[in-house]
Amino acid sequence: MPFSKLGLAPKVVDGVRAAGYTVPTPIQLRAIPVILEGRDLIGSAQTGTGKTAAFALPIISRLGQRGALRALVLEPTRELAAQVETAIRDYARFTNLRTVVLFGGTGYGRQDQVLRQGADIVVATPGRLLDQIQRGMLRLSQIEILVLDEADRMLDMGFLPDVRRLVERCPRARQTMLFSATIPPEIEQLCNWALRNPETIEIGQRRSPAETVTHALYAVDIGQKQELLEELLRRTDYDQVLIFCRTKHGADRVARKLNQEGHAVAVLHSNRTQSERERALNGFRDGRYEVMVATDIAARGIDVEQISHVINFDVPHHPEDYVHRIGRTGRAQSVGDAFTIMTGEDVQEIAAIERFIGQKIPRVKIAGFNYAYTRLLDSNPKPIFGGGRSPGKRSFGYGRRRR
Ligand code: AMP
Repeated sequence: MPFSKLGLAPKVVDGVRAAGYTVPTPIQLRAIPVILEGRDLIGSAQTGTGKTAAFALPIISRLGQRGALRALVLEPTRELAAQVETAIRDYARFTNLRTVVLFGGTGYGRQDQVLRQGADIVVATPGRLLDQIQRGMLRLSQIEILVLDEADRMLDMGFLPDVRRLVERCPRARQTMLFSATIPPEIEQLCNWALRNPETIEIGQRRSPAETVTHALYAVDIGQKQELLEELLRRTDYDQVLIFCRTKHGADRVARKLNQEGHAVAVLHSNRTQSERERALNGFRDGRYEVMVATDIAARGIDVEQISHVINFDVPHHPEDYVHRIGRTGRAQSVGDAFTIMTGEDVQEIAAIERFIGQKIPRVKIAGFNYAYTRLLDSNPKPIFGGGRSPGKRSFGYGRRRR
């Protein structure tokens, strides 16, 4: 079914066409008519499924014309807020609606200036939005549509009390949508409290990672992680690589060493200033950096089209983070590879991830790599790179590959 048959306003259909989308994704097909009817919605879907447009298009369509501040979208991170605002502006380009983004870590001057001009849609992180309300810069008294995006991450980051405060400032008669990859009890409570008779839309299996991603595990002694990472980069034919570390210091260290090896590297974590984070992300988006090293929170929801590979330098603590991390590649049905470096300390976490995603991740060994002994290597995985078939075979070789 084309976008023009979903009941969206013609200007929104034009905006979607200009964005280059031809057919709606499954979540868009199911969510758009429900939202257009004005119903509350709980949405869970695989990452990269087109969730943003699924809520943004009907919101733009329902708002129609310039007016008061009527729609609010809450996001857990600044990067996501910026990304969602850009998408909304893009879809609304043929309307006269105004969208504003608010997040912390930057001065108030420019935000105040923009807010004085008024907005129909605000995309914000909870802390800064509360700040701006307390400073008297905006009110939520005319909000008609509220979106709580990435609710499970807002919970993880301790934002739920702020989210509740913000929900309380919105009128009761409103439409509320909540999107979350997982629905832990706290989110279920939030749904019961903030939503009225919601429709639930679940696309695919909530737990499954994008199906277009090829996974592989690389076991190595803990002292050789960096060496193995560099070898992987040397042997992989990538467009752009996103590397995940558990800690900010770890991310800085890995980035520094890769820089010394001559890679163009950006770093994204929450100790960086807002302008450093923006520079990193923009540079990665426009291809100035081929590698980005990030922590989980900073990289949540990041959408960079060219990401061909995700490498977990550290195994994530939470199995759901594995799904989110590798969701950065293979977005909206393109293909990607996800490599995970594991050491003897990660055995239990890997088992938990495999249970969570319901599949065993193939163990892969790099032929010719000078492995130090670790008991993990005893299980005799098949050699690759220069011999044998492997799950990641498609993408190995020399020279740059363009999709
Ligand atoms: P999201 O899940 O909202 O982060 O979207 C993932 C990616 O899919 C983004 O790059 C979108 O621009 C893209 N996308 C969303 N909807 C469509 C569509 N109907 N057709 C093609 N690409 C889409």
